[in-house]
Amino acid sequence: MGISSKKEFETNDFPILEQYGGGSIILTQLDALVNWARSNSVWPLTFGTRCCAIEMMATGASRHDFARFGYEVARATPRQADMIIISGSINYKMAPVLKRLYDQIADPKYVIAMGACAVSGGPFYYNSYSIVKGADHVIPVDIYVPGCPPRPEALLFAFLQLQKKIKREKNFKGMIKK
Ligand code: SF4
Repeated sequence: MGISSKKEFETNDFPILEQYGGGSIILTQLDALVNWARSNSVWPLTFGTRCCAIEMMATGASRHDFARFGYEVARATPRQADMIIISGSINYKMAPVLKRLYDQIADPKYVIAMGACAVSGGPFYYNSYSIVKGADHVIPVDIYVPGCPPRPEALLFAFLQLQKKIKREKNFKGMIKK
């Protein structure tokens, strides 16, 4: 059976999608398929240390409902999570705990720093001897969400940005031999 027609287009989900034979055959890249699955099932480990955590909880509640974007169920264990939402400041006593939690998440893993405290130490405690001047002094951060506190819409926007980042990843580079 020959392939009579070829239709090529881009969607938000798949960077490259090719349709043949009136849609009965669809080709895409393996990377795109894996990234599509990963980006739509990112389970967050919540790490709320201060008032921003209230906005994070509001983002997961029914009015905003981050499950709509595949962030689904927030987990209380790093072993069932794909990313951390840090909402609140990190003090030096807490920093090794955050590092250990991050290390326990399986790769690939991601980090969102939510609010001025997580981004840079915060507007109120920045000069405190006990406060780390941003979560990225402890673990790598993928997305920064400014604000004090950021609204749930800002966190939802961060989720969408993280999904875009995941969709650009190369999972099989150098692994598949021609
Ligand atoms: S950024 Fe503002 S709202 Fe968020 S944890 Fe810091 S002080 Fe609280």
